[in-house]
Amino acid sequence: MRALPFLLAAASFTLLADEPATHQAAKAKPQHHATTPATTPATAPAAAPAAHGPASAPEGPDSPSAALTELAAGNARFVAGKRVRTLDTGHDASMRAALVGGQAPFAVVVTCSDSRVPDALVFDQEAGRLFTIREAGNAPDLQGIASAEYAAEHLGSKLVVVMGHTSCGAVKAIREANGKPLPGNLWALQAGMSGLLESTPHDPNEDVKAHLARLEETNARRQAQAILDRSSLLRGLVTEEKLWVVPALYNLASGKVQFFKPLSLAPAAPAHH
Ligand SMILES: [Zn+2]
Repeated sequence: MRALPFLLAAASFTLLADEPATHQAAKAKPQHHATTPATTPATAPAAAPAAHGPASAPEGPDSPSAALTELAAGNARFVAGKRVRTLDTGHDASMRAALVGGQAPFAVVVTCSDSRVPDALVFDQEAGRLFTIREAGNAPDLQGIASAEYAAEHLGSKLVVVMGHTSCGAVKAIREANGKPLPGNLWALQAGMSGLLESTPHDPNEDVKAHLARLEETNARRQAQAILDRSSLLRGLVTEEKLWVVPALYNLASGKVQFFKPLSLAPAAPAHH
């Protein structure tokens, strides 16, 4: 695992030349990890035992804001058709070998199962970088939330992005059902998105498309809030400023991800002092 940064650095040095300065700086920053023996040679073989958790993969952004910057930069590359981290297949084998010993994904992505939302490509991040939870309607159940907790607490992820998307079939289905039970086990999806329609009622003056767009954004925001509300562990990390929970919306047509403000636990600040 410890060989990964060196493998990737060697592999991607020229490819990363047009990345934003902030990302270059993050990559170039020396890594210090209490559990990594100082005497470990930098060229340790990929098969060397590696600790689980953050200490084993020191390459990613080291703060919530840096993690968000990295995702935004990756998405900008995707939108521009200039992916760099997910383009070169020549190092797939060495990447796999380097990751066998552990993982330290810098971000959790909670998004829809929709096949048109390939988060690794959307954020231009290779294996080992994103911890992804996908369920229709980006409405995670308790196991989904537990997965996010595992990543944040055990693997050191700095960011949870809860990403809805345009033309979401789950949101459309919920809207069309309008409270009537959907077939099969889809009741669980309705339960996971309960309150959405009530929170965002249809304005008689808006067309269906506009209403769906509002529902998609609202759903991302509500699901992000729900994750936080249901997880004292994640709230604790947010309080300690070790984690941000950020709603987002992916536009299928443009490829662009719109990030909203990180959720805050603090009560709304007064308008003036
Ligand atoms: Zn969807």
